[in-house]
Amino acid sequence: MKRYGFLLVLIAANSALAGQGWWMNEPVSLIQTNLRETDSGLDANALVKEIKDFPANTILFSGGGITAHYPTNVQYHYKSEYLPAGRDLVGEVIRKAHKADIRVIVRFDFSRTRKEVYDAQPEWFFKRKDGQPVVDDNKLYNTCINGDYYNKKAIEILTEALERYEVDGMFFNWFGNINMDYRGQPIGLCHCDVCERKFKEKYGRAVPDEADAEYREFIFRSAVDVAKQFEDLIHTKRPNALFMTYIEENTDALVSEADFYKWRPLPQWIYTASEHVNSALNTRPDKMSFDLVMPYQEMRYRFATTAGPGLRALLYQNMSQGAFPAFVVLGTMDQPDKTALKAVRPVFQFYDKHKNDYVAQKNGSRVILYAQSGPSSNRWSNDYRGFYRLLSELHIPFKATNNITNLNPSDIDLVIIPEGPVPDALLSYIKAGGRVLGSGAKNPGLDFGKTVKLWENTTTAYMRVTDHSIFPSLKDTQVVFCEGEYLELEPPRGTPRSAAPTPSPLTLIPPSQFGPPDKVSALTEKTDKPGLILKSIDKGQVAFIPWHIGDLYYRFSNDKHRALVSDLIDYLLPTHQRQLKTNAHPAVEITVMKQEKPKRTLVHLINLVGHSGTTFFDAVEMRDIKIELKGKFKKASTMDGRRIPVKFSDGYTRFTVPVLNEYRVICLYE
Ligand SMILES: [Zn+2]
Repeated sequence: MKRYGFLLVLIAANSALAGQGWWMNEPVSLIQTNLRETDSGLDANALVKEIKDFPANTILFSGGGITAHYPTNVQYHYKSEYLPAGRDLVGEVIRKAHKADIRVIVRFDFSRTRKEVYDAQPEWFFKRKDGQPVVDDNKLYNTCINGDYYNKKAIEILTEALERYEVDGMFFNWFGNINMDYRGQPIGLCHCDVCERKFKEKYGRAVPDEADAEYREFIFRSAVDVAKQFEDLIHTKRPNALFMTYIEENTDALVSEADFYKWRPLPQWIYTASEHVNSALNTRPDKMSFDLVMPYQEMRYRFATTAGPGLRALLYQNMSQGAFPAFVVLGTMDQPDKTALKAVRPVFQFYDKHKNDYVAQKNGSRVILYAQSGPSSNRWSNDYRGFYRLLSELHIPFKATNNITNLNPSDIDLVIIPEGPVPDALLSYIKAGGRVLGSGAKNPGLDFGKTVKLWENTTTAYMRVTDHSIFPSLKDTQVVFCEGEYLELEPPRGTPRSAAPTPSPLTLIPPSQFGPPDKVSALTEKTDKPGLILKSIDKGQVAFIPWHIGDLYYRFSNDKHRALVSDLIDYLLPTHQRQLKTNAHPAVEITVMKQEKPKRTLVHLINLVGHSGTTFFDAVEMRDIKIELKGKFKKASTMDGRRIPVKFSDGYTRFTVPVLNEYRVICLYE
């Protein structure tokens, strides 16, 4: 790493403050060695060599908090008992890594600490409703984000580390109170004196027994306030260093973890990395996304890894959405199960060869999937995930973001709200000609009409397709199934002069007899209860599906639901033209990214066809994938410089990807 003169340091400091630190404008490939305390005696030379050879250019390395891997002088901060006398592991690793042009981000974890600290300062700790602390199997006590362990002691610990070590960044595990222990058992909310006092000041009542919206906001804000202190300290002491944790306020980068943990609910969410980076970079374009790919089966099996092709898919998702490969090992690189490291190494080798091609990518999609952030995020909902997967399978490039103010129809063709209501912020966009597709069982607003009734469960109901002109792909079916909530809205009226209801293209066939076969309903009942409402507002148009088609698709993948949404999107799009058309298999994930220097568009293709059940097998090679992309491009090439012929007509550039194994990028030049 180059050493700068004083003036350059000042310039770099200013650019870091403007959100242009090294993490924004240099290639990053990261390995996290998440150390045990028994690893404190590791050979720093060997580690740096392993990282360099992997190759990666950044280490996320354990520093302190629960265990310090360096001699610390701060009271209540404990160095590892396995740190050999006279050694400073953190100092050694940083020095040696920097000599090898490797950056070091140091990890701290202030979420727990020892009994001695609890005995001396119990008011720093999480207090259950019954007054008891939370103690885990290792006899570590959970701290509280509002207590002075986070607010004062951590500052002392970090000050010592920042003054002593030339860190390139700091990362904080956990960050904020959580509501369960390591075993997954609920621990309730913190009732410590500070939490109670602060909550009462703000909301005029005691901390509730269970988290409600106000409490979630409170605890979220508490973490943001601590983040502000950490941010100021880090930027003052080390102006070129980044500060990152799992929250998006007052940080330089958003951290997320992509995994296939076995305890996660089914169906397996194979777009986990893609979604993290897509939503992070499009919601906070001023920050970088550090999406850490976790190889292990879950926390209880940190040395048993999942199938290599799936881990590679996650790393490719990071890269195709504008971030970079980041991979975690528990302990050192000397793993008892080496299969995962071996499996992902080719991705790091590929990235290293082309790393400069990946810098400063911006999502170039013309469709938005509304992704709320903060404590009321919708990003974990089935409705959201159903649409996320649908768009990916339909090869409709999209940004997942909550930035929906001041949208312009000349940039954005369509906004999808996976679960209503339609935010008011979209009104000016709609009036100017924008298109919105909303869904879910909440009244969408925008004068869509009164709610007649919320049907809580429509099991055995269907939607009748009454207008096949909107749904050409459903030409061979009159019905699609509908289950779960359905919001019955008044059928839309025509113009004031003709007050007759406008027939909805989909109408409800209410729940009816489904068995025995002799008695099954003939589905003759006709209603005007809308299953889809189309509404024009000035120059724009809104379509609202008042049931949870996203949730149903996430869970059941019914192909008629997919066809319904696909046709509806085509109907809504201005001039009915998609940004991208292709014959690619639905299991090929395609993203469209833009770069300024050089000015070009990158089309990334990830072959996810190897996914099966709850694992990944090797992808099957695909050939001759035809792509038509809106816009005029003069030439195209693969990342290793192989020319791809292009043809332009009718507003689209057409080209063919000759072969797709696991992953490929096509670069298009204007
Ligand atoms: Zn508390």
